[in-house]
Amino acid sequence: MSTGNSNLYARFRESYAGNDDKVVLTTTDGATYSFADIHRQSAQIAELISSLGVERGDRVSVQVRKSPQNLCLYLACLRGGFVYHPLNLGYKSKELEYFIGNAEPALVVCDSENEATLSDIARSAGVNCVYTLNGDGSGSLTDASKAKGQSFETVNCESDDLAALLYSSGTTGVPKGIMLSHGNLLSNTETLVDAWGFTADDRLLHALPIFHVHGLFVAIGCVLLSGASMRWLSDFDAGLVRKFLPECTSLMGVPTFYTRLLADPSFSDDDCRNIRLFVSGSAPLLEETFVEFEARTGHTILERYGMTETNMNTSNPLHGSRKAGTVGPPLPGVDVRITNDEGEELPIGETGNLQVRGPNVFVGYWRMPEKTAGDFTDDGFFNTGDMGVIDGDGYVSIVGRAKDLVITGGLNVYPKEVELFIDDIPGVKESAVIGVPHADFGEGVVAVVVQDGSAAVSDADIIGACRENLANFKVPKKVVFVDELPRNTMAKVQKQRLRETYEHLLD
Ligand code: AMP
Repeated sequence: MSTGNSNLYARFRESYAGNDDKVVLTTTDGATYSFADIHRQSAQIAELISSLGVERGDRVSVQVRKSPQNLCLYLACLRGGFVYHPLNLGYKSKELEYFIGNAEPALVVCDSENEATLSDIARSAGVNCVYTLNGDGSGSLTDASKAKGQSFETVNCESDDLAALLYSSGTTGVPKGIMLSHGNLLSNTETLVDAWGFTADDRLLHALPIFHVHGLFVAIGCVLLSGASMRWLSDFDAGLVRKFLPECTSLMGVPTFYTRLLADPSFSDDDCRNIRLFVSGSAPLLEETFVEFEARTGHTILERYGMTETNMNTSNPLHGSRKAGTVGPPLPGVDVRITNDEGEELPIGETGNLQVRGPNVFVGYWRMPEKTAGDFTDDGFFNTGDMGVIDGDGYVSIVGRAKDLVITGGLNVYPKEVELFIDDIPGVKESAVIGVPHADFGEGVVAVVVQDGSAAVSDADIIGACRENLANFKVPKKVVFVDELPRNTMAKVQKQRLRETYEHLLD
């Protein structure tokens, strides 16, 4: 029975009521955490955070390795009404300065390895509280929370109270903070548990990162809201996935997970003997992967579509036909439509801008009311920036990314951000960053660069400078020099032409 409290954590707790000793999480080396353990540790962390003077609605910025204690920190934020702000561990100083400066957290938690850098960045942003949390669970956050009481009372939340702030760069190059409420997360998680048939009997193999919607809200949410359990991998390792797959009922992954599993010729239906559901998302699943996976294991991968701003929007069905190359019909309660550039709804079969409306759609961009207003229509639809088409059965296909997003190994690279950085390198006039097919990552980053002759600059210089300042997944795999960039009559760089020209560059 619901408590009437919209706090997502309160609903997680209800799922384990009377079954607190159930083991929820088992690590690869066999350490186990019951719900009671997680409840106690998250209480102690919430108590510590409160004692530091952090208040409801304050941001807690977190750049740490995936660990059970990281999960407890996330849950502690939910419990205390603090806004959880996860950061990819790959972000370097320049990027962190922006995120910390913009989110203005009351507390920063980082790996001991980065403590000196993060402390400097935090201090310049006026943040005095920095704690550490390492991949093995050690750190000053753990030490200080151990001394705290265990009976923290989860705060009552309204459905539009903020739960998390996740950044996603825009094509303008300015990363935007996406405000997600308890209501957004709760409604979408309830929908997914129902749509995908999660129950307390499920055991999920959790190998996704937890700084992103997929691993954090979709995977953890489905487990904790259904009272299920998970085998917890600190990252994707095909050998470990194969080792633990037979004890699991479900795997959620990015397409790369599936191509890597298939790369091992001995991977077969026997590995999947207890699996009832394979889910793929965050990037397009190639039809050939879908077909080969079915041939090898007998399982059809369920592909779904979502984004940080909206959580999950569409999903192929649990029961019924899963169509390769589509992301399925809209989830219950979610409206999806395709429009032309004038905002008029297009008929079935026509490609256009994909718009979404529903309780899953975010509250707005952090401190960007004009940008928020510009991305919503008068009747409350959010313009996703994706191009899509709906077929006669109501199945949606994502046909392109209006925003020219590059997705490499499931991680997003916004070309503008890399272009702005490269353009600042002496000797560079301008650049265009594109995604090019890559056998392992789906897409790899390629920079097409025009020199201005003011200084000698080589491809190694550009890649080296990117490597020092940007997360590794954003660093171009190759740099190509050209005399000029192809442009249309409106002077826009024709990225599609570049993609065609360099289609085989990373073969
Ligand atoms: P993110 O905000 O990091 O979750 O990235 C969201 C973007 O990933 C979406 O706007 C889509 O462009 C893309 N995306 C997510 N899932 C899929 C999918 N199943 N097929 C194609 N693109 C997808």
